[in-house]
Amino acid sequence: MEVLVINCGSSSLKFQLIDSDSEKVLAKGLCERIGIDGSSITYESEKCDKITKEIDMPTHHEAISAVIDALTDNENGVINDMSEVKAVGHRVVHGGEYFSKSAIVTDDVISKIEECNYLAPLHNPANIIGIKACMKLMKDTPNVVVFDTAFHQTMPEEAYLYGLPRKYYDENKIRRYGFHGTSHSFVSKRVAEIMKCPLEEIKTIVCHLGNGASICAVDGGKSVDTSMGLTPLAGVMMGTRSGDIDPGILEIIADIENKDISEVINILNKESGIAGLSGVSSDFRDIAKAIEEGNINAKSALNAYVRTVVRFVGAYVAVMNGVDCIVFTAGVGENNSVVREAVCKHLEYLGITLDKEANSKRGEEVMISTPESKVKVYVVPTNEELAIARETVELLK
Ligand code: ADP
Repeated sequence: MEVLVINCGSSSLKFQLIDSDSEKVLAKGLCERIGIDGSSITYESEKCDKITKEIDMPTHHEAISAVIDALTDNENGVINDMSEVKAVGHRVVHGGEYFSKSAIVTDDVISKIEECNYLAPLHNPANIIGIKACMKLMKDTPNVVVFDTAFHQTMPEEAYLYGLPRKYYDENKIRRYGFHGTSHSFVSKRVAEIMKCPLEEIKTIVCHLGNGASICAVDGGKSVDTSMGLTPLAGVMMGTRSGDIDPGILEIIADIENKDISEVINILNKESGIAGLSGVSSDFRDIAKAIEEGNINAKSALNAYVRTVVRFVGAYVAVMNGVDCIVFTAGVGENNSVVREAVCKHLEYLGITLDKEANSKRGEEVMISTPESKVKVYVVPTNEELAIARETVELLK
């Protein structure tokens, strides 16, 4: 059956139309600059290469309309009518403690997501706008929400409580939630299949290293700890995000720059990480090029990045009292052999030996440890859209 997967941001909307039986992507694209001048839709399908059209999109409503027009277009569309789309699966960032699984959209589900808005003020309101626009424009099509946080709801209390006055948890639900749950779940399941091991019997550490990055300890198929926190700013260093820093730094930078807390957080979100530390770029391809050209700040930024990954991997070996496999995924994890090798070099104490030739591959499913390696290391490409489509179908069965 045809499932439309929507990932709605505050000014963008990514979509994929997936045939859930063959798991083929029939069409995909991106609406950009929604609510801003110069908005456009980029679309590609089995029938056409990437095309970009400028369309006025004052709200997400017009963006969904543009998606519908593109999918049903006489020339480049892949369906005749939207009634062929049997369900819409939405990525939602924060489900708080309400959602430990995906859910079929009802008024109650929407109001619970709205209650979580204060936990993800940049993401959840945009996700809700996307859901509401689909409900209006595709009246008879069921909507399903798949949460970034849901997979981590299995974390034990000792993993999610912060050392803060308890009232902030009791009254305000300030705790670790974790993100990238759809990817961590997809990848940990897939690696168990590849290893031909029952998911319930293995301990896995998933390193989702993209622009945003998080590490997850998966014990027997359940998330037991993860590096992101209440917000996606925590954990390992990222493209432009700082990851974990000493919270005392906030006040000091606020004083230096004469800025308030939200402006400092903005620096931590958008001007820090690999980009801020290297002064080069958030893109690891630019970092690699700069290192080749002898840029020492790029080199030291990469080293510091690797150290933050190593720290979490080591911590999660301890948390799970062992590990059977380590998996790299997402843009950097799938493509950057230098990062993978540098991380694994720190893990020789676990009996990990890297197969350098296998590690030189990019973007494909591959075991990168030698057959003798005590802990297996894999690259498994993530596919969050497919995971959302699968969840959507599963839930509507
Ligand atoms: P997100 O989904 O969080 O925006 P991605 O998972 O797409 O991010 O990862 C983006 C990162 O992946 C970028 O830093 C980019 O440098 C890196 N990346 C993507 N493709 C390649 C590649 N072919 N070689 C090296 N790095 C790559």
